[in-house]
Amino acid sequence: MVDVKNILVLGAGLMGSGIGQVALMAGYNVIMADVKDEFVNKGVTGIQEGLKKLEAKGALGEGVTAADLMGKLKKSINLAEAVADADLVVEAVIEKMDVKKQVCKTTMDNGPSHVIFATNTSTMSISEIGKDSGAPERVCGMHFFNPVPLMRCIEVIKGNKTSDETVNTVMEVAQKLPCLKGDRYIAPVLKDRPGFIVNRLNAPVQIYLSYCFDKAVAQKLTWEQLDADAGGKMPMPPCMLSDFVGIDTMNHVMNYYKQTLSPDFEPGKVLKDLMAKNNLGQKTGKGFYDWSKGKDPIAAKIKAAKPAGIFDLNVTFAILLNEGCKILEEGVAGGFKVIDDANMAGMNAPGPFGPGKKNFQAWSELLEKLAKETGKSYFKPINLMKSGDFAKMKK
Ligand code: NAD
Repeated sequence: MVDVKNILVLGAGLMGSGIGQVALMAGYNVIMADVKDEFVNKGVTGIQEGLKKLEAKGALGEGVTAADLMGKLKKSINLAEAVADADLVVEAVIEKMDVKKQVCKTTMDNGPSHVIFATNTSTMSISEIGKDSGAPERVCGMHFFNPVPLMRCIEVIKGNKTSDETVNTVMEVAQKLPCLKGDRYIAPVLKDRPGFIVNRLNAPVQIYLSYCFDKAVAQKLTWEQLDADAGGKMPMPPCMLSDFVGIDTMNHVMNYYKQTLSPDFEPGKVLKDLMAKNNLGQKTGKGFYDWSKGKDPIAAKIKAAKPAGIFDLNVTFAILLNEGCKILEEGVAGGFKVIDDANMAGMNAPGPFGPGKKNFQAWSELLEKLAKETGKSYFKPINLMKSGDFAKMKK
């Protein structure tokens, strides 16, 4: 295994600054790199502020100061030079394939012969990013969740040419990165498939939500009524959640899975219309709801609304169980406990396999009905779910 001492974090934006912070806290020497000084400085300022807050709370550990840790941080706007002493590059640049491929190749062309390139991509193929780098065996995925210091999960993804040594090294580094809210959970992702584990597990729920939105319009019901269906059992009910995530993000993500998993991910009419009107949710002040007075008045209206009888929380669990079974069948995760644990660590929500062991038959029936009603065969329960055989597989 590679003895990692020096980590170069490439891209000093939202994710990169979080990754830089936890890498410093783990004791690594860190170089923050970006394309312009102002971007690097912004990321570094974010790290410094984060560390100072922790220092004030006494959370940096006995005798450790923010200044000590900042002393191990260097800055660069020249990857080719900065990578000379790096053992590991963690890439968090913009989500564009040509940029990711280019920085991967620059790393391999200019870094030491053992350097590992770990990409934080959410949606791109690890194998494709590493393909023309000259060293695909030293390229893997290292998928963090936002905010990095607070979310426990990191997925480590094996591309089709990634060596075991690379995966093991990155797993070991990932395990050392502190999390401020509980223990890190490192999920090994055994195959380079869209969405990896956590995002993939949750992806098809969006098809269902989109279907519910269109059905509510057809029945002339209000968004408050649709959200009242969740009965206060979700941290945020469907319409509110979509506004929070962003209607553009939902459309973008669904279109990505439409290309990579199934045409059934096509966004429905409501999502497309909101997007066309630039009503993107909380960030534009308007989406399903008017956000100009904040969340409270919306929540109060939902609480007072008569439920629509369209959205069923059990259906979402059924969808998660079916997708979890697909992830197992495709060999993306080594066992169902990995999927449940990764969902808890990455989404702060329980995975489907615990309750699924009791409910798989009833939930399979719900999905058969849903597939018929929506005309979307993606919802059909696969045999591994219907039979309950997932419970006999390795945990
Ligand atoms: P961001 O826009 O905040 O930061 C991206 C940074 O990359 C910018 O500072 C930009 O200047 C820099 N950059 C662009 N081209 C570069 C280059 N050639 N070399 C060096 N730096 C370059 O984006 P983000 O939200 O931090 O996302 C970064 C990556 O992390 C993306 O691949 C994204 O898909 C992934 N990701 C994001 C989230 C999230 O919730 N934001 C979660 C998981 C993964």
